[in-house]
Amino acid sequence: MAKIYYNDDADLSIIQNRSVAIIGYGSQGHAHALNLRDSGVDVRIGLAEGSKSRAKAEAHGLRVLTVAEAAKEADVIMILTPDQVQAKVFEESIKDNLDEGDAIFFAHGFNIRFGYIKAPEGVDVAMVAPKGPGHTVRREFEAGRAVPDLVAVEVDASGKALELALSYAKGIGGTRAGVIETTFTEETESDLFGEQAVLCGGMSHLVQQGFEVLTEAGYQPEIAYFEVLHELKLIVDLMVEGGIAKQRWSISDTAEYGDYVSGPRVADAHVKENMQAVLKDIQDGTFAKRFMDDQSNGGKEFKELRSKEESHPIEETGRELRSLFAWEQTDEDYTEGTAAR
Ligand code: NDP
Ligand code: MG
Ligand code: MG
Repeated sequence: MAKIYYNDDADLSIIQNRSVAIIGYGSQGHAHALNLRDSGVDVRIGLAEGSKSRAKAEAHGLRVLTVAEAAKEADVIMILTPDQVQAKVFEESIKDNLDEGDAIFFAHGFNIRFGYIKAPEGVDVAMVAPKGPGHTVRREFEAGRAVPDLVAVEVDASGKALELALSYAKGIGGTRAGVIETTFTEETESDLFGEQAVLCGGMSHLVQQGFEVLTEAGYQPEIAYFEVLHELKLIVDLMVEGGIAKQRWSISDTAEYGDYVSGPRVADAHVKENMQAVLKDIQDGTFAKRFMDDQSNGGKEFKELRSKEESHPIEETGRELRSLFAWEQTDEDYTEGTAAR
């Protein structure tokens, strides 16, 4: 059984007695910074000169410095820029501002696991990774609840890195829900696998292919959208509440029987083999290298794929339908369409 920590296992005063820099003020950055501040922690934000995020952080009443200034001032530095720029930001603005006894924190192990960031001697390297999008991390905290976190220690220079990480997790709320101990390797590989094989990659393409099969067979796209995309949320909510079993308990007997006889035809043994191949590419660094090499090339492949996928016909149907119905609720930061990113 994995080790799980709760409020009573963490001492908030540890992080309250440190000074924290949050580097980046995006999805995770804003949530960590605001939750820590509400927990009585001394927080400053580090952003690049001319950053688009500066106005937002300042509007939230936070002190914004350059990354180098923030890293110099603080002794716990949580790096929450996108993974693909962390190594550059670390080399240019963080590394030389670290002192012995400082700690660098991550919310995902990518750069440590694949060796893009190497911490200097005497510095703790730890992870506090909320298992949910940043906007949910903030919303749940404000509601008195929390998104569960993972914690991991890669380098325990101080001998107290785990206590520090747990204290940080308490500051952002995570110990209210439960904090599971893991390693950088396990978190990184399983996180990449989950998002690629199931949550994002697998799900998106399952939905797209379901939509294609129905519309190519002559069914109306609006009907297809409801059947393969819109209802997904209702199904997933049930799975989160009570596992696959609760979902099967709630659906009709017809749907449940169809799950048993047709599910394995769709997600057959080949799908499992494909997933195993995806996992191998994650474990041996092939995926990380492809991602980082493309980023060094200006993200050419990434942008091409983004624009190709966004032109899938299901998106057009969805945009029309969502504008006609009242269920849609968007996050303040999100605008539809690539151009707005
Ligand atoms: P975002 O893309 O939301 O964050 C972008 C932020 O980083 C912005 O404030 C941006 O500023 C800033 N930034 C970008 N480039 C630089 C730079 N060169 N120097 C300084 N600041 C920069 O990131 P996420 O919150 O999605 O991800 C952060 C980390 O959290 C990653 O390690 C990710 O894997 C992890 N994570 C993310 C989750 C999520 O919910 N998204 C879930 C769990 C973990 P500007 O406005 O100027 O561009
Ligand atoms: Mg991830
Ligand atoms: Mg139905």
